[in-house]
Amino acid sequence: MSQSDYDPDNIFARILDGRLPSQPVDQDEQTFSFADINPQAPQHHLVIPRGAYTDLTDFADRASDSELAAWVRALARVAKTSGVAKEGYRVIVNIGGHGGQEVPHLHGHVLGGAPLGPMLTRR
Ligand code: 5GP
Repeated sequence: MSQSDYDPDNIFARILDGRLPSQPVDQDEQTFSFADINPQAPQHHLVIPRGAYTDLTDFADRASDSELAAWVRALARVAKTSGVAKEGYRVIVNIGGHGGQEVPHLHGHVLGGAPLGPMLTRR
């Protein structure tokens, strides 16, 4: 992946620059976090880097150590501010086709607020 593979008009790029509205829960210089529009748990937020990264592989390849650390810290901070850290929560990062990624801007799902069941639906 390279920055030229990044779609600057993807939904989360549009949320980041204000072209689309969102419900922010947390932000800093390098990350932005907001409520998922179609929550899969009582608390469901998305944590994204402000930089143009398509997925986790791209982020690990190209992001600075500072960006990497900021995103990990934002995931844990959103768990705390959304009230799920104490009882437990799940972070999911879908990557690519087999991973079920729908939006091509790296995002971590932070889910909690109730027991979440098995990690994957049994086949
Ligand atoms: P993925 O399947 O790519 O890991 O997850 C994409 C997530 O983005 C889904 O959980 C979906 O509900 C959420 N989503 C899609 N469009 C929007 C939107 O316009 N606003 C917000 N807040 N979430 C969105």
